[in-house]
Amino acid sequence: MHHANLSRSPAPTPVIHPWDYVAMRRRAAGLSVGQVAQALGGRAYERHLRLLETTGMRISIVADLNVAMPFSDDVYRQLADLPPHQHPRLCQRCGWDERTEVPDCADGFTSWSRDDTTICTRCERQAAA
Ligand SMILES: [Zn+2]
Repeated sequence: MHHANLSRSPAPTPVIHPWDYVAMRRRAAGLSVGQVAQALGGRAYERHLRLLETTGMRISIVADLNVAMPFSDDVYRQLADLPPHQHPRLCQRCGWDERTEVPDCADGFTSWSRDDTTICTRCERQAAA
């Protein structure tokens, strides 16, 4: 992430790359690489996870990441294979997408923020807290 030049507007939506998506989903779950590896079956998965989060790396996922955290293989594949204008709409902070049902830490399930349509209600609540 680089700092936007505030004199320029409107700001273009930053492209979320597949490696960004893995890291965003992991951080949103509040997990370290080691913790995700542990949930997947042990330290052997750590190297795989670090590769998945490496800039420029487009590799196929051998682990079922959804076991450890809310994660969509479908979204990952689309980010890796499709040009940016065909990417699915994702929360710019946590990588949430509307097909992924995640509790929003309040009374329901996560959806799109009404005030800032680039983020989800869960990130909106965390920003407000
Ligand atoms: Zn979010």
